[in-house]
Amino acid sequence: MDLVLSTRNPHKLREFGLLMAPHRVLPLPEEVELPPETGDTFAENALTKAQAAADATGKPAIADDSGISAYALDGRPGVYSARYAGANATDEENLAKLLDEVPDGGDRRVAYVCALAYVEPGGRTHMVEGRCEGTLAHEPRGDGGFGYDPAFIPADRDDGLTMSELSQADKDAISHRGRAARELLAWLDAGR
Ligand code: IMP
Repeated sequence: MDLVLSTRNPHKLREFGLLMAPHRVLPLPEEVELPPETGDTFAENALTKAQAAADATGKPAIADDSGISAYALDGRPGVYSARYAGANATDEENLAKLLDEVPDGGDRRVAYVCALAYVEPGGRTHMVEGRCEGTLAHEPRGDGGFGYDPAFIPADRDDGLTMSELSQADKDAISHRGRAARELLAWLDAGR
């Protein structure tokens, strides 16, 4: 089936395009306005974004809201991950702020979280969530991925590589987004 992905993030479009196969992931048409992310939870924001795309396009839509939570910072930046260092902050600025704030000798545990919403034009919805535990590297390493990937060392592997040093397939196998996408795929395949 065709699924409109409610995002302006090209990295998410690339990742979901691979993760949701054989379903086809369509970009959000230019003219559709994304609602502001005002929710307190990943799920709330994901649902609002998917709802807006389904309403505007008349097609089934998906949206994720995702981010990184640091144990030493009581879960921050969490839903504010994309704008941690300010409204128009770059990925590098957000990562630099996180590396600054998590104490060097303290609790370096972090988790990626992804809430993934599916919304049909008729109003039916389904929500899944994926999580990936890890630790924060002291320095960014690697060129792949995006966002906090250069400093995220996933706990699922024992080679100490950051997400940015993994191939896309290796990231997808363990990532929060990969886990959420596989759960949604199973639900879609089971006939909804
Ligand atoms: P939003 O879901 O569009 O509000 O933004 C999610 C933000 O969380 C991204 O801009 C990244 O900063 C971060 N993030 C989410 N998923 C990933 C990932 O797979 N790798 C690295 N950073 C991520």
